[in-house]
Amino acid sequence: THFGFKNVPESMKENLVGQVFENVATKYDVMNDAMSLGVHRLWKDHFIRTMAPGPGTKLLDVAGGTGDIAMGFLNYCKEIHGDASAQVTLLDINPKMLEVGKKRFAKSSYNHTSQATFEIGNAENLSSIPSNSFDVYTIAFGIRNCTHIDRVLREAYRTLKPGGRFMCLEFGKVQNPLISSIYNFYSFQIIPVIGQIIAADRDSYQYLVESIRRFPSQEQFAEMIKDAGFTIVGDGWEDLTFGIVALHSGFKL
Ligand code: SAM
Repeated sequence: THFGFKNVPESMKENLVGQVFENVATKYDVMNDAMSLGVHRLWKDHFIRTMAPGPGTKLLDVAGGTGDIAMGFLNYCKEIHGDASAQVTLLDINPKMLEVGKKRFAKSSYNHTSQATFEIGNAENLSSIPSNSFDVYTIAFGIRNCTHIDRVLREAYRTLKPGGRFMCLEFGKVQNPLISSIYNFYSFQIIPVIGQIIAADRDSYQYLVESIRRFPSQEQFAEMIKDAGFTIVGDGWEDLTFGIVALHSGFKL
């Protein structure tokens, strides 16, 4: 397919990734529910509860897309602390995904507050974001779409304040052989068909499945996080749902 990136020069990959999310932007939320059978909501809830942000936390949500993490974060601060001083900057490379996110915030109780701001930008080069400026950096289901993971991690390190935390939610590798074969069948046979039916776009979802397969293992990714300068606690990650997804975290100390 034209999204099979094997013979594509790296310089073109970013454009193709852009194209994928452009194609799926409006169907993105409904597709997430369909593909994960709603479980992505539980992963994201767990992610926010693990972050456990305190009042006034400043979050940079990179590859923030339609705003699940940004919204979950502000809701947590409001519900747990009654806090309206927390702030999130939602950054994404794709204007269409950002547009869907913006509209969602405009319809929410955060409309006309200065709690959420939106920026177009590339995770690999956060030139508009000053160094040492955020308490938490999140990237959920975004880093595997980036060409240079090491650059993304370096930029995360740069933009976090000392003491700040990097948190990533991303697909991982399933160790259990039985679960793994069921999961592979589901990913390669079923998901592209769901993509075809709901979004009329089999290729984009074929690409998403491929990108999951190519992403490093939990161990390899934890090493990359360390190489970028972060301090990790224990292994540095937690497997969710048999390792279908992993939550990685590191501190800038
Ligand atoms: N974080 C959101 C969530 O969990 O629902 C969105 C995840 S979505 C699967 C991936 C997002 O990454 C898309 O919105 C896409 O535009 C964005 N993206 C891809 N490459 C990027 C890059 N180099 N820099 C910033 N965002 C990027």
